[in-house]
Amino acid sequence: MTVSSRREFVLSAAMAGAMFGLDGGLAISAPVLRQKTIDPKAGFHHYTIGEAECIALFDGVWEKAHDPQFFKNATVADTKRALSSAGLRTNFVPIPIAALIVKVNNKLVLCDAGGGGQVQAFNPNSVFVSGKLLPNMRAAGIRPEKIETILISHFHPDHIFGLLAPKTDKAVFPNAEIIVPAAEYKWWTDPSLIGRLPEARRAQARRIQAVIPTWPNILPVEGEDEVVPGIRFVSAPGHTAGHTALHLSSGKAELLISGDAFYMPVFGVGHPEWQGAYDQDGQKAVETRRKLLTRVVGDKMSVCGTHFPWPGVGRIARDGKGYAFVL
Ligand SMILES: [Zn+2]
Repeated sequence: MTVSSRREFVLSAAMAGAMFGLDGGLAISAPVLRQKTIDPKAGFHHYTIGEAECIALFDGVWEKAHDPQFFKNATVADTKRALSSAGLRTNFVPIPIAALIVKVNNKLVLCDAGGGGQVQAFNPNSVFVSGKLLPNMRAAGIRPEKIETILISHFHPDHIFGLLAPKTDKAVFPNAEIIVPAAEYKWWTDPSLIGRLPEARRAQARRIQAVIPTWPNILPVEGEDEVVPGIRFVSAPGHTAGHTALHLSSGKAELLISGDAFYMPVFGVGHPEWQGAYDQDGQKAVETRRKLLTRVVGDKMSVCGTHFPWPGVGRIARDGKGYAFVL
């Protein structure tokens, strides 16, 4: 590569980074990669669960470079095999990000808030694109001011940074009541946490501690309460200390809004025993997955999840001795 063509490459790569809302933490000399997967044609998808109207909202994708540490008890070759068995590309891990709006009794409830274009891919060979939730919400005909309640599964950045405006940390949904699992709130707002976290995670925790407790519209809730009529918290720890799924029921229809309990179903449903680097307590996450799998299959529930293949809602069926997610 000549000096001038190299410069051109770097500039266009930097522009691509700006376009996709990548965090500016990467040095200009590092190649900023373009997104390789294609976004869904429509970034929103309507379906119903009984009388409840659901709207899936696409937020982005994390194209994660393979990493032998990704699973404690599965190799990169195992990971690639799981991806290819679901017809997914295998040269990286394509992790979609989505959120869900549920309309119950004419109330608009947003379940998780996406990454707000503010999540950084630590590995320069990975691409992290988020922040498409708001434009997709508007495209679905919903103004963000109309959201009355937000339910948060856990405090990882791809689930909560969409609550915060870039740079100013201002509330994106100042009128909504934001209901969070009390255990998760307690874990992240503990002042001693920063010192216990690996360096790479500290900025995220500092941001949470500086902002979230100052908002008057945050409501931490203990246990498995019905947090809005028809939607109940389901304790699902392991991925994080207070990770919480949601159970929506309307008439005879039920939906488990599973957050990150199953992560990508090719991993979490197909191989519930695999302990991901993304699970804070691997053993507990396995127990939670097994419990939820038994419940979802036994009760014939529909299931969706933040990192499920778009449009993200389907069923779980028995597959030999194990389970498989079917769209
Ligand atoms: Zn996530």
